Amino acid sequence: SGGGLIVSFGEMLIDFVPTESGVSLSEAPGFLKAPGGAPANVAIAVTRLGGDSAFVGKLGDDEFGHMLAGILKENGVCGDGICFDKGARTALAFVTLRADGEREFMFYRNPSADMLLTPEELNLDLIRSAKVFHYGSISLIVEPCRSAHLKAMEVAKDAGALLSYDPNLRPPLWPSAEEAKEQIMSIWEKADVIKVSDVELEFLTGSDKIDDETAMTLWHPNLKLLLVTLGEKGCRYYTKNFRGAVDAFHVKTVDTTGAGDSFVGALLCKIVDDQAILEEEPRLREVLRFASACGAITTTKKGAIPALPTEAEVLSLIHG
Ligand code: ADP
Repeated sequence: SGGGLIVSFGEMLIDFVPTESGVSLSEAPGFLKAPGGAPANVAIAVTRLGGDSAFVGKLGDDEFGHMLAGILKENGVCGDGICFDKGARTALAFVTLRADGEREFMFYRNPSADMLLTPEELNLDLIRSAKVFHYGSISLIVEPCRSAHLKAMEVAKDAGALLSYDPNLRPPLWPSAEEAKEQIMSIWEKADVIKVSDVELEFLTGSDKIDDETAMTLWHPNLKLLLVTLGEKGCRYYTKNFRGAVDAFHVKTVDTTGAGDSFVGALLCKIVDDQAILEEEPRLREVLRFASACGAITTTKKGAIPALPTEAEVLSLIHG
């Protein structure tokens, strides 16, 4: 560590994962409590690789909220941006693991504490110290966390941070698809780095042709890097000057939860101190291979956080 700080903003929650895959929620023999939430996963992906990160968000002042804050701390994530809501409870997600390793979610958010973060509660000094500021979309769904999200982005950008956006769309959480699109596109041009999955690409463009032409409709003039992740089919990258693809690693996948977050955390870890990587294709490809290896390893174990790899594990997959 000792590198630049990556601040990750948004939700953290507990996934209740059935102890058996391929069964519906009502048939599950039991559940594992798995800490998650894409921005929190990214923060831990970074520290697991030896980088510096902080999490900014709100938790319930309940057993689950304190458990989550403890997990961030144990993993070396700075918790100076965490606050606790006195009334609302920590968000919960119930996950169905399909037999193919893909997952579906049902959420308890009624409202949950993460939705109640206000702009006044933001630790602005912490946000201003970010070299990279990363965020998703769930915090855009309702007030007051939407205003907190917008303010945090603005403060980070004004202080010179690189802005990294993974829409991490969860359609069932939004009032409508139109509203999701509108909110996501309203902050699109602020980001320097954007990662979308193939599913998000289709949702945002309305085109089911996952090709360069479709991806480029999401391009904006200030963007430095657009990534489209394709699971076991790897990823595609686009910059102002070059574009290409990086294959996925072959691994034995048991649960894809957190693969995208692991991929993003690894990428941010490598570019936080050397943004020139974004302009040099051979170096960017090397970093994307590293990030792909990270994503791949994350699919080989159940859950997101326990499956996030160390740098040594990643290098061992890359170099065999
Ligand atoms: P998201 O979780 O956002 O949908 P992906 O599932 O596409 O993102 O995962 C991000 C990256 O992780 C992929 O580009 C790929 O390199 C790696 N990855 C994901 N799933 C697999 C898999 N089943 N096998 C190997 N690599 C994978």
